[in-house]
Amino acid sequence: MNTIQQLHEKALQCAKDFLKLESELINILQELDDKKAFFHFGYTSLFQYAVSSLKLSEGQAYALISISRKSREVPELKEAISQGTLNSSQARRIVSVITPDNKNEWIAMSQTLSQRELEKKIVAERPKEAVRDKMTYLQPSQVKLVCGISEELMKEIERVKEIVSQNTGRPANLEETLKAMATLYLERKDPIKKAERVLEKKQLFSSPSLKREGPSFLSLRRVGNSQGKRTTIPAQIRHEVMKRDRGQCTFKDKVANPCQNKRWIDLHHKKPIADGGEHSLNNIITLCRQHHRFLHQRIF
Ligand SMILES: [Zn+2]
Ligand SMILES: [Zn+2]
Repeated sequence: MNTIQQLHEKALQCAKDFLKLESELINILQELDDKKAFFHFGYTSLFQYAVSSLKLSEGQAYALISISRKSREVPELKEAISQGTLNSSQARRIVSVITPDNKNEWIAMSQTLSQRELEKKIVAERPKEAVRDKMTYLQPSQVKLVCGISEELMKEIERVKEIVSQNTGRPANLEETLKAMATLYLERKDPIKKAERVLEKKQLFSSPSLKREGPSFLSLRRVGNSQGKRTTIPAQIRHEVMKRDRGQCTFKDKVANPCQNKRWIDLHHKKPIADGGEHSLNNIITLCRQHHRFLHQRIF
């Protein structure tokens, strides 16, 4: 009996410490966020930093960061956690609905209602919260995708389904329909595919007898303004960079892990045009916007 009581007391103390540390971590994350400190370590987001550097699980990182961000607007949220009247999973649930006007009501509800009852209240407030985008593996090569879409989009997908069925001569299912949409979109819009297409075509035309490219053939794109002069990267070079870097950020962090962000990417001149750098394949690299900004802040 004595040992059980001792174990119980230890557990109580650990749980108390655990909650205290959690609320401290929320405060620290808020400060790191304000200072954009994750850049300093080569990460592009606080989430990436929390997962890769602090080794939090994605779920923990998401919960703590969303609570810390919401607490700027509603400080009572993190105060309730530090006082032990609310735990972080209760707090995370109400992040999407709590405001300075309704804070007391939501904090009270999350303390008293069961999880299901609380979800019901949240959905009534914000119907979109009912379905969170989710991908889970069913088999190594198959995922289950859950997301909420509008009725209008559903009708558009149904229309595509009819066309795909018509074209293949048999009834298409939803997966085949989405596949057809994705293939068509990537064929038209993927800059890597476009670069490969253009470069292949240029190779065909580059035999001496057919050489005909001039500035009009290489449509130019404005990339900036240095000392009043417009600087442009020739399309040919842009396509070659796209093909080489596969549209991914090439920045490497301190331990040489590549960033590989494929969203919001920029082209960066290692040696700036203003300092005599050229629009050449060797001088241009692909960077995501955050790392691009980070590099410029470090250089200048
Ligand atoms: Zn740059
Ligand atoms: Zn990057």
